Amino acid sequence: MSFESLGLRAELLRAVSEQGYSEPTPIQLQAIPAILAGRDLLAGAQTGTGKTAGFTLPLLQRLAATQPAVADKKEKGWRPIRALILTPTRELAAQVRDSVATYGKFLPLRSTAVFGGVNIKPQFQNLRRGVDILVATPGRLEDHMEQRTVDLRAVEVLVLDEADRMLDMGFLPVMKRIMAVLPKHRQNLLFSATVSNEIRTLAQGLLRDPQVIQIDRISSPAQNVTQVVHPVDKDRRRELLAHLITTQDWRQVLVFTRMKFGAEKLATQLDRAGLQATAIHGNKNQNQRTRALADFKAGRVRVLVATDVASRGLDIEQLPHVVNYELPMDAESYVHRIGRTGRAGLLGAAVSLVSADEAGLLADIERLIGAEIPRENVPGFEPAIPLVTTGKQGGGRGSKSKSGHHQHTQHNTRGEKKPHWHRRSEQKRGGRTQRGNSR
Ligand code: AMP
Repeated sequence: MSFESLGLRAELLRAVSEQGYSEPTPIQLQAIPAILAGRDLLAGAQTGTGKTAGFTLPLLQRLAATQPAVADKKEKGWRPIRALILTPTRELAAQVRDSVATYGKFLPLRSTAVFGGVNIKPQFQNLRRGVDILVATPGRLEDHMEQRTVDLRAVEVLVLDEADRMLDMGFLPVMKRIMAVLPKHRQNLLFSATVSNEIRTLAQGLLRDPQVIQIDRISSPAQNVTQVVHPVDKDRRRELLAHLITTQDWRQVLVFTRMKFGAEKLATQLDRAGLQATAIHGNKNQNQRTRALADFKAGRVRVLVATDVASRGLDIEQLPHVVNYELPMDAESYVHRIGRTGRAGLLGAAVSLVSADEAGLLADIERLIGAEIPRENVPGFEPAIPLVTTGKQGGGRGSKSKSGHHQHTQHNTRGEKKPHWHRRSEQKRGGRTQRGNSR
């Protein structure tokens, strides 16, 4: 199935082809026709499935094909906001807006993003100039509503992206206040990595006869991601991480910690040890985050240390290595974390440094993914306190490296097929994260 056969117009096909996409991803195959037909949508899909293009392409097509419903207002040339896309984080807002600009580059539609953590004034100007598509985080959008710098009365399409994360972050009341000012008659598209009861409740109140799409259950990490656990004593984790980065010559590695403080400290220590490292977490302002991400993408920084929240929506293409410096408290975050690598069918490696006290967390993760992650001791770092998990998955106690060598390219924990879609050309688009300026 090709993008052409989905009925997308030439301007969009050209943009898609410039991106090097050869065929639609599964979510795109299902979502694009439904959205073009004007249906509401409930889509269970994680980041990495191509969901952003899945809603952006048909959205752009619909807007390009019609005139705004309310055109009777104000001065000549007034451009009402016709599509509103809500995202949980500023990073995701910037990236979605970037996708809108990329896919819509041959169409005369304008877009901007508004999110917190940056000066609000330039956003006033962008909004005043008029945009067709607004990408926003709920909090900052409400600020604009209160200041009457945004008019949402002509919104035809509402997209909730990563709705589960927005609920986790406590945005439901703000989202309700936003939805209350939108026209009742509109198309609603709800995207969520997990479809929990809370999401179902939200969907019930919001969606009219939705098409339901479920892509890639949360519990299945991509098959092209190699997973390994290196047992290690807690106080030697940093040393082991530095050892792995150096001896395996990792050039671009995303490291997860649980706490902001831990992220900062680890980045500083690695940096001092001569491995260019920086941290990205909630205490950093938008400029610092954007710079850290740009440095990392450009290869000026080798190690990016992140907390789970800060990492959401980071779109880093061709990220080869993800390290769990500490295991997350909830097993699903593990799947989210390792979903940062192995994007778009590329190979990735997810390495977890696990100390004895994390055995319970590891068991939870293995229960969720339904597989045991191979254990490999790294010579010289064998833990004094052994890592013991009560195997719930059947099978042996993991594959300790027989040769004593810690290569780990061979294991895939699940037997699913590799996604059949992939880029035609692996063109790297540097600096994908732009701020939300009007085009
Ligand atoms: P998303 O799930 O929207 O975050 O997209 C994940 C990645 O897949 C992004 O880097 C997109 O550029 C890429 N992508 C989206 N659609 C396709 C496609 N049809 N073929 C190849 N890559 C794609």
